[in-house]
Amino acid sequence: MSAPAGQHPNLTHPGRENVHPLFDPTRFATDIDYEAFYEPAVLASRLINSPQGLQHDYCFYYGKTVPAATPSAFSYEDGLWQLPYQYACDKAIGELTRADIRDVEQQRLMLADDITFVIDDDIRPYTRCELDVSPTGRRTCVIKVSRSFYNDALANKRTPEEKARVNLQVACVLIHEVAHAAHFRLFGPVQEDYREDSHIAEGGFEAVARIFGYTPIFRQDQSGWTTWQYRTIRGSYDLTKIGRKAWQLPLNEKSWGMVTAFVLKLSDDDFWTGEYLQHGALALLPHSIATLCQPEFKDMHIFKAIPLSIRDLFRTEGPSYAKKKYANFGNPERQLRTRPNFDYRFREY
Ligand SMILES: [Zn+2]
Repeated sequence: MSAPAGQHPNLTHPGRENVHPLFDPTRFATDIDYEAFYEPAVLASRLINSPQGLQHDYCFYYGKTVPAATPSAFSYEDGLWQLPYQYACDKAIGELTRADIRDVEQQRLMLADDITFVIDDDIRPYTRCELDVSPTGRRTCVIKVSRSFYNDALANKRTPEEKARVNLQVACVLIHEVAHAAHFRLFGPVQEDYREDSHIAEGGFEAVARIFGYTPIFRQDQSGWTTWQYRTIRGSYDLTKIGRKAWQLPLNEKSWGMVTAFVLKLSDDDFWTGEYLQHGALALLPHSIATLCQPEFKDMHIFKAIPLSIRDLFRTEGPSYAKKKYANFGNPERQLRTRPNFDYRFREY
């Protein structure tokens, strides 16, 4: 019998003493006060080990890459490295096996060895992943955290709600940057890939959206949660490079709200030993996502903006979207994902 939707074979959560090696103190420069990152690291560890966090990484490492079905603004003249690809796997969140999870964990441990977090006085907005290739070919990533962001994480005179929001914000940033480092480690300095039918090829946003159904935006307005799938991203993101079908939909903050009670529970150990163990992946979805995933919800633009893997949690019958749409993307041997050596659309014969 297969596991119910949203579970995985060994649904557990790391206790607060078990911060994942990706985020443990040895990854942080010695002049950093790790206290600033401890609670976010606990939360980030729990999130990446959730059924959906593991499924994101499983597809990232063991999915298949094909040239993107929908061309974006990329052009051949920009060079082959700019060409967009997309990747997917044939497994829904509830379909991962113990062996799948074990191999994901192995990749994560290797990645942990190749990343370092440092504080940087000069960067904005929050963080940046600085990539380097050693003479031996080892790809490493120094994740620069801006001084102001660090100070924000350090500040301790807060209400429980503010603390919980900062924990979540920093946890999302940790997950975001580690996703970029993972892409670089696997493929080198090439354009990131679209995941399934996502609208933007941005691995960091994707990694977080695959957990909650969308990616919260924190800048300036701590209550301004929204999604990169849904709204045009401003600032440093050039949509002519990474976007496709990146339409501007009417803003509807109500539909995407991450309410205070939800934010608070993520920092509460009782949630992780109670509701989470009982409901698995579904416990990590804001209520708004459940509403938007109901079949009677008619706004297809918004529906499609929710990651396929999350929509799959709400199906009531039949094979998963992953099995239906990506049946050919199976990888029972779990060979590491590769990229095509050429793009068939432009190949000269
Ligand atoms: Zn990013």
